[in-house]
Amino acid sequence: EYMSTADIREKYLRFFEAKGCKRMPSSSLIPDDPSLLLTSAGMVQFKPYFLQQKHLEAPYVGTTTAQKCVRTNDIDIIGTTGRHLSFFEMLGNFSFGDYFKEEMCAWALEFSTEVLGLPVERLYFTVFTDDDETIEIWKSLGIPEERISRLGEEDNFWRAGPTGPCGPCSELYYDQGPEFGCGSPDCAPGCDCDRYLEYWNLVFTQYDGQEDGTLVSLPKKNIDTGMGLERIAAIMQGVQSNYEIDLMRDLLAVGERLTGKTYGENAEDDLSLRIIADHSRSVTFMISDGILPSNEGRGYVLRRLLRRAVMKGHLLGIEGTFLNEYIDEVVKLMGDVYPEIVENRELTRRVVLSEEERFGSTLRQGQAYLDEALSELDGDVLSGETAFTLHDTYGFPIEVTEEITSARGISVDLDGFERSMAEQRARARANAKDADKAWSTYGGVMSEILEEAGPTEFLGYAKDASDVTVL
Ligand code: ATP
Ligand code: MG
Ligand code: MG
Ligand code: MG
Repeated sequence: EYMSTADIREKYLRFFEAKGCKRMPSSSLIPDDPSLLLTSAGMVQFKPYFLQQKHLEAPYVGTTTAQKCVRTNDIDIIGTTGRHLSFFEMLGNFSFGDYFKEEMCAWALEFSTEVLGLPVERLYFTVFTDDDETIEIWKSLGIPEERISRLGEEDNFWRAGPTGPCGPCSELYYDQGPEFGCGSPDCAPGCDCDRYLEYWNLVFTQYDGQEDGTLVSLPKKNIDTGMGLERIAAIMQGVQSNYEIDLMRDLLAVGERLTGKTYGENAEDDLSLRIIADHSRSVTFMISDGILPSNEGRGYVLRRLLRRAVMKGHLLGIEGTFLNEYIDEVVKLMGDVYPEIVENRELTRRVVLSEEERFGSTLRQGQAYLDEALSELDGDVLSGETAFTLHDTYGFPIEVTEEITSARGISVDLDGFERSMAEQRARARANAKDADKAWSTYGGVMSEILEEAGPTEFLGYAKDASDVTVL
C-alpha cells in the first residue's frame, strides 16, 4: 500500500507514543557533544540518558523522534547506491533502562507487518555474531530460522563514535527482489548491493566504550533504534531508490527543469541529478542549524557538499548560479516539519549564493588547468603538487579532484598532496613569525592567530566503520 513520507513519519511516532514513548523534537545537526562532528543518528541527543546522567520523567518508557542526520562517511558513495543519502531522516525510539529486546523485537515486527503491512515472507533479520538470545526471540515471534543470519562487528555492533554508549544490534531487511541484486550466489543481507535493503537497526545499547577500547557495562540496558525514513518510503512507494520517493522526486525535477534533461535517460546525468538533489538538502539543513562554509570541521563538510553540487551542475551544463532553486524547493517540501529552514531561508540563500559565486568563477579556470594537466600526464597518477594548486588556487576540495580524475582512471598522489599542504603550513608559520617581529608589541599573538585562522587545513574523514568524524 502506497504511503507518503509524511504519513510514515507520523505513523511511526504515533505507534511509539502508544507504546508509552515521549515524542521529542529532532535535535540540531550540530551535536551538543564535542566528540562528534555532526549529528549522524537519533541517539546522539540521548547520550546523557543512556549514561543515566539525565532521566526521563514518569510515566514515559522512552522517547521517539524523527531526527535529521548528516553522515560524512557516506558522502563518497552518495548517488551510487540507491539507499545512501548524505542527509536523511532517522525515525527512532529509545529506552533508557525500561523496555528491552523482547518488547522491541515484537514491536518492530508489529510495526513492519501490521502498520506498514509489509509481507513477513519478505523480511530478513540479522543478529550480532553470537547473540543466540536474539535469534530465539525472532524465532519465538514466528520467524523461520533460515531468514535469520549472523553478522560481525562492522554491520552489527553500533557505535556513534570512538567512545560512548554502544552495543550489539539486530537489523531488519526487506527483500526488494532479485532484480535489485548483484546476482552473486553469496548475495544475502549485509551484501553491498540493494537487493536486501536494511531499513531498521535495533541497537541493544549495553556498553559505554572507553578511550582504551574496553567496553564497560552500563548500569541499565537500553534500546536505540533507527529506521531510515527515505528507505522505508522507497519500499512503501515501490520505487527503485531513495531518490525517487515523493520527497526527493521533486528535487530531481528541479534539475530536470534547469537542464532540460529527463531523469532515467543517461546514467552519468542521473548521478549528477541525484547528487545535487541530495546535497541541496544537507546544505539547507546545515546552514539553517548555524553551520557556515569554512576550511575545517563541519564547515568544511558543508563547503565540500556545496562545491560538489556546483561541480555537478557545471557537468550538466547549467549556466550561472542555480542552487537557490533547490533551496527553495527543499524549504517548500520540508518546511512544515522543520520550521528552522523556513526561518533561515534568506540566510541560507545568501550563504549558498556567495559560495557558489566564489567557487563558480574559479571552477572553469580550475577545470581548464586540470584538463591540461591530465592531457600532459605521463602515467596514471596526478601529482600531489597539481592537486595542491587546484586546492590552493582554484578551491577544489581534494575529494572533488579525486572524483574527476578517477572517472578517467587516474589516481591522485595523496601523500604528495599532504606534503605540499604541510609545506604551506610551515611557510605560513614562518611568515607569521616575521609578522610577530614587526608587531612585537602584540607579544607574539599574531602567529597564534595566523596559525589558527590562516592556512587551509584538510581534516579528513573517518573511513572506518563508525559514522562520525571526530573533531
Ligand atoms: P548501511 O549498512 O546501509 O550503510 P548503516 O548500517 O550504516 O546502513 P545504521 O547506522 O544502522 O545504518 O542506521 C540506522 C538506519 O538509518 C539504517 O538501517 C538505514 O535505514 C538508515 N540509514 C543509514 N545510513 C543512511 C544513509 N546514508 N541514507 C539513508 N538512510 C540511511
Ligand atoms: Mg552505513
Ligand atoms: Mg548496515
Ligand atoms: Mg545498520
